[in-house]
Amino acid sequence: MIVQSPVKHCADVAIVGAGIMGLAHAYLAASRGLKVVVFERSPRASGASVRNFGMIWPIGQPHGRMHQLALRSRARWVEVLERAKLPYWPEGSLHVVYRDDEAAVAREFTELADDLGYECSWLNADQVLARSQAVKSDGLIGALWSGTELTVDPRATIAGLPGFLHEHFGVEVRFGCAVRAIDLPAVEAGNERWTVDRVIVCGGDDFETLYPETFAASGLTRVKLQMLRTAPQPDGWQLGPALAAGLTLRFYSSFAVCSTLPALRDRIARETPEYERWGIHGLVSQTALGELTLGDSHEYGPCVDIFNREEVDDLILGYIRGFLNAPVMNIAQRWHGVYAKHPEKPYLAITPAPGVRIVTSPGGAGMTLSFGIAEETIQDMGL
Ligand SMILES: Cc1cc2nc3c(=O)[nH]c(=O)nc-3n(C[C@H](O)[C@H](O)[C@H](O)COP(=O)(O)OP(=O)(O)OC[C@H]3O[C@@H](n4cnc5c(N)ncnc54)[C@H](O)[C@@H]3O)c2cc1C
Repeated sequence: MIVQSPVKHCADVAIVGAGIMGLAHAYLAASRGLKVVVFERSPRASGASVRNFGMIWPIGQPHGRMHQLALRSRARWVEVLERAKLPYWPEGSLHVVYRDDEAAVAREFTELADDLGYECSWLNADQVLARSQAVKSDGLIGALWSGTELTVDPRATIAGLPGFLHEHFGVEVRFGCAVRAIDLPAVEAGNERWTVDRVIVCGGDDFETLYPETFAASGLTRVKLQMLRTAPQPDGWQLGPALAAGLTLRFYSSFAVCSTLPALRDRIARETPEYERWGIHGLVSQTALGELTLGDSHEYGPCVDIFNREEVDDLILGYIRGFLNAPVMNIAQRWHGVYAKHPEKPYLAITPAPGVRIVTSPGGAGMTLSFGIAEETIQDMGL
């Protein structure tokens, strides 16, 4: 039962959550001329969308539908970043390899890439070092190079997009305004009552507050990731391509097509079971302030441990030190982030009531896929 408040507010579409999923949906709905309001319960978004690497990472998506979705999403990202005058670095990515079994996977993938629709190539050690000053040369065999990845600064992007959406499209973004009840056409948010035609719920790992039964039946779990950030690098020093390494080849499902992958997996599990236990791989991106974002680990389960494990940070750092050559390696910030993940589906779109769509759990690829998923939602809802 929704209580009437004296002021009447109306919109075509209400969006719950000002993380990247909510903002991407707001952009696409508003671009179609719809009147959009976004509700964010926190004074500023502080969920997964500001805690990540800012990597728009098509190379990690399995070939076919998801890779194509990631490429469409990337194109939208560039369009929005240009229009909003937000910084981004379209520098591509390097998966650097130091072991023969890693090189075998990277090489095999580049041989399959053309047929699968990826644009990437194998670089030998000299070619890698010519492309990046941030890679250690000792023992380097080569790298898988891909030009489709770009990096954004998640804090600057998620802080900057609401203002852009408001100025260009009149999108209302209400911060500190939790949506408490949806009973179309009524939405109760903070102390306001809105009348809207449709609602898109992009609450990240939390939609159980609004739809507890739907959440319980969704099969979703949560994933906790530990992250670190260096102090800023010296002026003028640039990371260039974002970096990944051998452990990542066994992490993203794009590489599952490689017949050489099982041997790499076996060796990693045998030699370094601690990486398996905590789901560790090594990624490096750079922020607008010149810091390097380093991570990550993966702990699965509905209940997230609020305490970070120093052991996990040490393992992440130890691994990254093996391939990263950066002038400043002292750690200035540590945190963890959480996202929702479905065991099989790349993301969930659920209709809990007519006119309401829950869009969530793009897993570890929500930055990459956000605008592509939003396009699918808008089309599917007939907006
Ligand atoms: C550490 C880490 C690193 C990652 N790195 C990458 C990466 O480099 N590239 C990539 O593609 N993906 C990455 N991801 C995944 C990506 O960050 C997430 O998939 C994505 O941010 C999810 O966006 P979201 O908008 O669904 O969720 P969130 O960012 O969590 O936003 C949800 C928002 O909804 C709000 N909300 C919830 N309920 C309500 C309510 N009732 N009323 C009002 N507001 C509400 C919350 O306050 C929150 O701000 C990473 C994730 C983590 C945690």
